[in-house]
Amino acid sequence: MHNLVTPLEKNQTFCFSCSPQVACFNRCCRDLNQVLTPYDVLCLKQFLEISSADFLNSYTEKSTGPATGLPVVSLRFKDAGDLACPFVTDAGCRVYPARPASCRTYPLARGVSRNRETGMLTEQWALIRESHCLGFRRGERQTVDQWVDAQQLADHNRMNDMMLELISHKNRYRPDPLRPAENQQVYTALYNLDRFRDGIFKKDDPLAITVDTRALDRARSSDLELLQVGIKWVINNLLEPPRGKPRGGFTGRI
Ligand code: SF4
Ligand code: SF4
Repeated sequence: MHNLVTPLEKNQTFCFSCSPQVACFNRCCRDLNQVLTPYDVLCLKQFLEISSADFLNSYTEKSTGPATGLPVVSLRFKDAGDLACPFVTDAGCRVYPARPASCRTYPLARGVSRNRETGMLTEQWALIRESHCLGFRRGERQTVDQWVDAQQLADHNRMNDMMLELISHKNRYRPDPLRPAENQQVYTALYNLDRFRDGIFKKDDPLAITVDTRALDRARSSDLELLQVGIKWVINNLLEPPRGKPRGGFTGRI
């Protein structure tokens, strides 16, 4: 398979359209390695109206990222023969309104770099032309910004950028592998949000959380707020430089 990757400025246009009418319909939902972000997991479990634990157990595999040493969640193939996404059907994607960020972003790819001194983020975009994809023969010309709007990517990108800060902390302050218990805590705080909520709001033994109380209140009823608390909790409890106490010391259980 021949792929062509072309860097793209945000104001540059490209021509693309995908619909059930294309001869290649659903081809891109097979033979893939679909890594999910924490926000992807949140959207999918909400859409399917199941708990985060049920979603993770039913549809995903857990591994450890070789570069980051952090837990990674990937979709489990429906059919190992053609590596099909568990959500692809003959009629298309059955979770389309909650599809992951990578599915929304395609045929673009977004890269983000973070300045270590200022914390400023810089976006890079590229157009990926895969030889099997016929979508480039159709559609109106559009800019990257128009595509981001049309695919409702703003929240995905914002939440994924928060993960970049977490990864940056991991690389900087905890380049060593996490202990298994720490790995499990990160997995819970980022992906198993219903379990994390139980942990921080337990009446008898609540998890100590060092985020402002208004954010914590909002997290009681909002998964989005809860995920932001989870990301901050991981950074503050596991990935901050030591301040006179053992690095990674826990103040509660989840
Ligand atoms: S046009 Fe491209 S994105 Fe659309 S179904 Fe075909 S391969 Fe997938
Ligand atoms: S989530 Fe939907 S769009 Fe994404 S690979 Fe699976 S079936 Fe395709």
